[in-house]
Amino acid sequence: MDNIQVFMRIRPLSEDEFKRDRSAESAVHVLADNTVSIPSQRSENFVFDFVGREDSTQEDVFDAIGRRAVERCIQGYNGTIFAYGQTGSGKTFTMQGARDEFTGPDDELRGLIPRCFEHLFHRIAEEEARTAGRVKYLCRASYIEIYNETIYDLLDPMTRTCAVREDIKRGVFVDGVTEETVQDPTEAYDVFVRGTTNRHVSATSMNRESSRSHSVLMLVIQSLTQMDTGLTEIREARFNLVDLAGSERQKLANTSGMRLKEAANINKSLSTLGNVINSLVDISNGKSRHVNYRDSKLTFLLRDSLGGNSVTFIIANVSPAMCNDAETASTLRFAQRAK
Ligand code: ADP
Ligand code: MG
Repeated sequence: MDNIQVFMRIRPLSEDEFKRDRSAESAVHVLADNTVSIPSQRSENFVFDFVGREDSTQEDVFDAIGRRAVERCIQGYNGTIFAYGQTGSGKTFTMQGARDEFTGPDDELRGLIPRCFEHLFHRIAEEEARTAGRVKYLCRASYIEIYNETIYDLLDPMTRTCAVREDIKRGVFVDGVTEETVQDPTEAYDVFVRGTTNRHVSATSMNRESSRSHSVLMLVIQSLTQMDTGLTEIREARFNLVDLAGSERQKLANTSGMRLKEAANINKSLSTLGNVINSLVDISNGKSRHVNYRDSKLTFLLRDSLGGNSVTFIIANVSPAMCNDAETASTLRFAQRAK
């Protein structure tokens, strides 16, 4: 299995887009199963590992991405899912579910995050039963936001800032971040709901939009295996679920002060992510290249979960509207670089 997998998902046309375009014609043409182009941008063909169409369900997306990501974590490998795309393209819908509403366990609109939690604990129970309790799993969750290259702890009601540090024993870690033990999907989802609520409250009081920050939900999945020698072997897998800042070209003209800095930081951290993924692709093709993890908080923070035996899933979310065709082409170019 490839260590970097790239998916795209086209959301349905919105009513506003229909009014603007005065047409329901999609800018994105799906040529074969996993090949697309954007004729109005005279674009090249893009090939992905999976293409979700307008009518793809949340379950389809989970089957294509979430199931595999969870399975790797159960096996002890790190996994990261990134949702990339312009604001309004469906990143949060894909990760969380229908906007600003927290979905119940049976809601078919629930996104990858709740579905991955459910599947993870289901697989943990299976593994524990299969090994007659010789293998036990422990999960801890933390949830942070990266805004303007500063990390905020979303599980702290005051959304305190944290530094990212590195040491030989622990690797890269967020110093002092709240970590909660979670024992079932409900507890894990509760962590997500609380963090997301804190994120909205702090965004409102600071007068900023969550589309301008990255949110990173991090699970540490420890497996403790009772060996015949009487010793316990501990393995640790990290599973990160990332809803990225909107990738739309940030307008630097006529912008100043805080907004300019913010725009420049979004551009920089997304382009650094692209560069890091590019370098990892080169490495997996046998070319050795230096990986500049340190160029942004996001990539540095995720350093130990990107590369090596880790699996990275990138979901390029796009709008089908003609009025967004340029942004859509730019999203697909970003994603194609990872192939
Ligand atoms: P983003 O997080 O990228 O800014 P959202 O996830 O908030 O975008 O999506 C924008 C709007 O489109 C929301 O109202 C959302 O519910 C809707 N939407 C996104 N993707 C889909 C989809 N696949 N099916 C139905 N509605 C969607
Ligand atoms: Mg969003």
